[in-house]
Amino acid sequence: MINNLDKNTKKDYTKSSTMEEIQTKKKEVSAMQYKVELLTGIRPTGDLTVANYLGAVSPIVELQAQGVSPVVFVADLHAITDSEMTTVKQYIHGVVADYIALGLDPQKTKIYLQSDIAGEVNTFTTLLARLISVAELLRVPTLKDKLKNNARPETANALLLLYPVLMAADILLNRAKMIAVGEDQLAHMEVTRLLARRFNKRYGELFPIPQVLQVNALRILSLKGEGKMSKTNPRGAIFLTDDAKTVSNKIKATETAIEGVMNKKLESHVLITKELAKTESERDEVDAIIMAHKTGKPVMGHFKQIMTRIICNFIEEFQAKRAEITRDPLYIQSVLEEGSKIAKENAIETLEEVKKVM
Ligand code: AMP
Repeated sequence: MINNLDKNTKKDYTKSSTMEEIQTKKKEVSAMQYKVELLTGIRPTGDLTVANYLGAVSPIVELQAQGVSPVVFVADLHAITDSEMTTVKQYIHGVVADYIALGLDPQKTKIYLQSDIAGEVNTFTTLLARLISVAELLRVPTLKDKLKNNARPETANALLLLYPVLMAADILLNRAKMIAVGEDQLAHMEVTRLLARRFNKRYGELFPIPQVLQVNALRILSLKGEGKMSKTNPRGAIFLTDDAKTVSNKIKATETAIEGVMNKKLESHVLITKELAKTESERDEVDAIIMAHKTGKPVMGHFKQIMTRIICNFIEEFQAKRAEITRDPLYIQSVLEEGSKIAKENAIETLEEVKKVM
């Protein structure tokens, strides 16, 4: 009997040991879930525009103020898809200084450099790439658009194809709960979610499925011509590096609306102006002038003056803060080193788990 029991126990023990292992693994996984509450990436591709601030930076600063702990990474490995490494490199510290001057607080928001964990990111990209077919990657709408808009699509490099897999590697290595992305990245987020589900199905539940936090519901239009404000059309964009004269000239040259009529461009100008205004009375001033415009008064010249003043004040304050931040040449490097140290620990831990289950 005892022997039998022993035998049974032994048998059961072997069985339950496997179950226990799974349970423990599950517990470990759930304990490890969501290492990062909110993750977002920034591409170091040049000077920021006010649209970048309103669409991408301001929402993160707001979440930070609400007590969320975001992690921001400078996506230099992504940026080399269409820029030389030397070009990308020269923008890295600048973009970090911009984000801090715009309100990111390195005490609350860790900032790291993607290439500081290049070993982990690239290894994981390779492992994840096994879980998606070339045909599926070719169907990603952003890739299709890029190829369509490329004058010589045959010259597009293969990193373009792997772009969403690299993005999935960043997100899943961090086990991020929410990813703040613009509208342009929604298709890529679907690839990340798909890869997380596939990985979990094949190798066990390791990754929380990241949720999308679409931050830029705003669409700031270009001051010139059609479409949205973008770095690629500098005459239609207000850069945070522009001086007052340049801002004033760009606003003077922008189209206005006929008295009594609101159009999309004017709505966008009102939006920029009110979002960048510092006080309630400035916002009231904008509302009053637009009200006068709607009743048919010729006030567009006056509105442009207000718009110029508010934007210039915002830029001036930003530039002063940025100058202060960059006075210590080692400061930005120290912020990145601190952020990268934490990111590296997280990445190594996740990658070890990945290798174990694979
Ligand atoms: P880009 O500089 O085009 O790579 O844009 C980086 C991010 O800035 C985007 O993902 C958006 O979140 C934001 N952004 C850029 N342009 C605009 C715009 N015209 N309106 C609103 N948000 C924008």
